[in-house]
Amino acid sequence: VGWWDHVAPAAKDPINGVTEAFLADPSPFKINLGVGAYRDDKGRPVVLQCVREAEAKIAGSEFLESISASVSTKMVEESVKLVYGKDSDVVKEGRSAGVQALSGTGACRLFAEFQRRFHPESHIYFPDPTWSKYVCSSSFGFLQVLVQFFQVVKCLSDNEIDVQISIFSVIEVQSCVLYSHHNIWRDAQIPERTYHYYDPDSKSLDFAALMDDIKNAPDSSFFLFHPSAHNPTGVDPTEEQWREISYQFKVKGHFPFFDMAYQGFASGDLDKDAQAIRIFLEDEHLIGCAQSYAKSMGLYGHRVGCLSILCVDSKQAAAIRSQIQQIARAMYGSPPVHGILLVETILSDPNLKSLWIDEVKIMADRIQRKRTTLRQNLEKLGSSLNWEHITNQVDRLAKEFHIYMTQDGRISMAGVTTGNVNYLANAIHEVTR
Ligand code: PMP
Repeated sequence: VGWWDHVAPAAKDPINGVTEAFLADPSPFKINLGVGAYRDDKGRPVVLQCVREAEAKIAGSEFLESISASVSTKMVEESVKLVYGKDSDVVKEGRSAGVQALSGTGACRLFAEFQRRFHPESHIYFPDPTWSKYVCSSSFGFLQVLVQFFQVVKCLSDNEIDVQISIFSVIEVQSCVLYSHHNIWRDAQIPERTYHYYDPDSKSLDFAALMDDIKNAPDSSFFLFHPSAHNPTGVDPTEEQWREISYQFKVKGHFPFFDMAYQGFASGDLDKDAQAIRIFLEDEHLIGCAQSYAKSMGLYGHRVGCLSILCVDSKQAAAIRSQIQQIARAMYGSPPVHGILLVETILSDPNLKSLWIDEVKIMADRIQRKRTTLRQNLEKLGSSLNWEHITNQVDRLAKEFHIYMTQDGRISMAGVTTGNVNYLANAIHEVTR
């Protein structure tokens, strides 16, 4: 009695909240743009053909014993080739300490814990905004939200700002994020900072401010980057900008950590989406990378990912790997084996791998096409998007048009289909006029 009386309900995950609202809406026109999961052009979930074939291949072959963290080296070997390039020196020289992780979130969590053990004094810098945008803690959540809000609504009158603040204070209570970069590193007790990333005025990368933040951070700071398909803005640095960032990282001795949640989804090409990482490799940085197969193989629920950290030589890699494995064992023992076997089978069978590469391209192309059609439809309607009233717009889209998305206005393009793109364009145009 009385043991848990002080425990209040935790804040809701905004994405789950969006899904709940979507499911409860009886409208036949409803659209869910909240969940970042791939859908086909009829809005249905997809199991990739390469996954179906890999499942057939491994059926019956699986020992229902949990493999210890060190056994599935094949999946890790193939994953590091994907991200660093199969002919890269780090791969040839065995200089990467890689372990399988519980999808991208788990890989980030393992790294944050590793950082706490071996560099507890250093800060981690996140892009502003990052996955997920709205972060709260009881003490400064409201402020943080307000900062975001001011960036979005700079040019409103005082009166209008009051109205918006009240909307945002509701968001603070209702839609704090349960898992996100901020929360993951905060749980590891790593002090966090943000660096400038998105400029709402130009709706593009605030490159000058980003470079200033890199220069002004204490030497040897940790920085998290999204190597492609930045969540939630979709804005990525150009090749030239990555080169400048990499150069400045050399000057400052910063550590780059790449959270690769969508390899292949930005361009349809796995190597192209790893371009930022390859540029850092050329400059001989030691980097860390979290990889997720949730999106690129559609294995969301299987929770398959990889954490890799580059080292000076294979001996250091072995030491670091053993440390990460020890952290993982204390957290969850070992990861579930089925998804790992699927990824391992697809990546190490040339036919399945080339089928997968084709399927990644098909998914990326479909999303690109819908993005173009949506834009064309909006242009035809004479829309010039007005992001200043984004909260109102998101609310109106849900209430009047049965279209659901997270409060930061991020829409998952995978939820857009041939069947709903006209309806969506009309609705967006209506609320942004
Ligand atoms: N990083 C980023 C940038 C993400 O957008 C996501 C999920 N949307 C993740 C990590 C985590 O993905 P998962 O744990 O499902 O692999």
